[in-house]
Amino acid sequence: MSDLILFWHRRDLRTSDNVGLAAARDRSDKVVGVFCLDPNILERDDVAPVRMAYLLGCLKELQDQYQKAGSQLLILHDQPVQALPKLATTLNAVAVYWNKDVEPYSRDRDRTVASALSEAKVEYQAFWDQLLHHPQEIVSGAGSPYTVYSPFWKNWSARPKAAPVANLAQAEGLSDAERDQATQIGAIALPTARKLGFEWTNGFVLEPGETAARDRLAEFCDQSITDYDEQRNQPAIPGTSTLSAALKFGAIGIRTVWAATAEADEQARSDEARSGIRVWRQELAWREFYQHVMFHFPELAEGPYRDPFKDFPWENNEQHFQAWCEGRTGYPIVDAAMRQMNETGWMHNRCRMIVASFLTKDLIINWQKGERYFTQKLMDWDLSANNGGWQWSASSGMDPKPLRIFNPASQAQKFDPDGEYIREWVPELSSLDTEALVTGKIDAGDRRACGYPAPIVDHKKRQAEFKQRYAEQKARNNT
Ligand SMILES: Cc1cc2nc3c(=O)[nH]c(=O)nc-3n(C[C@H](O)[C@H](O)[C@H](O)COP(=O)(O)OP(=O)(O)OC[C@H]3O[C@@H](n4cnc5c(N)ncnc54)[C@H](O)[C@@H]3O)c2cc1C
Repeated sequence: MSDLILFWHRRDLRTSDNVGLAAARDRSDKVVGVFCLDPNILERDDVAPVRMAYLLGCLKELQDQYQKAGSQLLILHDQPVQALPKLATTLNAVAVYWNKDVEPYSRDRDRTVASALSEAKVEYQAFWDQLLHHPQEIVSGAGSPYTVYSPFWKNWSARPKAAPVANLAQAEGLSDAERDQATQIGAIALPTARKLGFEWTNGFVLEPGETAARDRLAEFCDQSITDYDEQRNQPAIPGTSTLSAALKFGAIGIRTVWAATAEADEQARSDEARSGIRVWRQELAWREFYQHVMFHFPELAEGPYRDPFKDFPWENNEQHFQAWCEGRTGYPIVDAAMRQMNETGWMHNRCRMIVASFLTKDLIINWQKGERYFTQKLMDWDLSANNGGWQWSASSGMDPKPLRIFNPASQAQKFDPDGEYIREWVPELSSLDTEALVTGKIDAGDRRACGYPAPIVDHKKRQAEFKQRYAEQKARNNT
């Protein structure tokens, strides 16, 4: 009989191209998956129902994959630090394997699980899987982590990338008696989102699971990646991959994604096509950059990186914040974007930057309130990318350009020139002419007739006010 290895899944919800799982299978024929529904995560008050529904959908497919391979995925609803050693000792597992994460909570949790397993005399091993290059691999000549993206990209992009690892095609699972034992100590059937207290009925921009992620990757690499450079900034065009939730939960392996870009590159027939692929790869590198900085500077999760923002005099007007959340600021492009996120759990990247700039620079509201609202709503929420995006937009992060302020009207004119995106998400304005939609210059009578609010602030005035507050704050910090 083979030794049992438990593979603890977290944000790697797939059986293909999974480094830790492949290592477990290399060592033993008998590999069983485990997922812990961790109360510390589920009971937070910022869990988006769409994200929970997506996660459970991925777990459903993962269970099917294990079953097809001849094994099982066990579901536990308990703290990993207690549940895993108990399961491992009950089933006489020789080891527990998992893939590493960069987030502060996950790293603390993994340390406690590792020591609990050691105490229980169960071996454990952890692997890097979710990144093409792990955080200690990409460092400056002096050996320190990068805090600026451009040199990071130069170093990161010059390095060879690993090929996908073997799929879990076949594995021995638990016997019936062992399955009973697992049930006795807490293994449960996969619950529905509703059973866990989450309700999501609006569908998904990307269906959960590995199959949907692979299909989307293939479709994107076949049809859109070569136009990415040209189309990625236009929210009315489906020009981006929408793979973010799949990458966050690991429904697809990053090596598989990279291999698909390499294949597209081989087939590319023009400089424009190759440029599209390169720019998409740069986004994958942004994902890795933000994970690396979160790993090296975990304090980013708690607050601003740059000094002037440490005790910034934010205005934090609660009514303005509510208007922003609900998409009724009176700025059509901002409202369209917020409503897209509220209704679908996903927002186009250009629009994430527009609404984040608006919240911080026009409403003068602390970016951490926006960061938290995104956490409550996004299907693809990822601590590192979200925090990185917010700190970049608020100018509080590791960015050499200190004050970036987006003008909502110029952004809409440039990136939604026909007002298609605004018409889709702010339908009460759909009969207005495009000029009015994109400039936001809608006269009071039309606003009233459409039931659409007047602008809650004046962009020009607020821009000046923000700059003044920033200058005063900087002066205070220097004295
Ligand atoms: C304020 C703000 C908050 C954000 N919050 C998140 C978040 O919680 N989760 C998240 O995955 N992304 C976040 N992003 C980054 C980006 O907006 C999304 O990754 C992107 O819109 C997802 O769509 P896509 O999959 O079609 O991306 P594509 O354009 O197809 O890009 C491919 C992949 O690259 C990664 N990526 C792309 N842009 C970025 C970026 N700027 N930073 C980090 N990774 C990137 C994502 O994994 C994405 O799926 C945020 C950006 C901003 C400005």
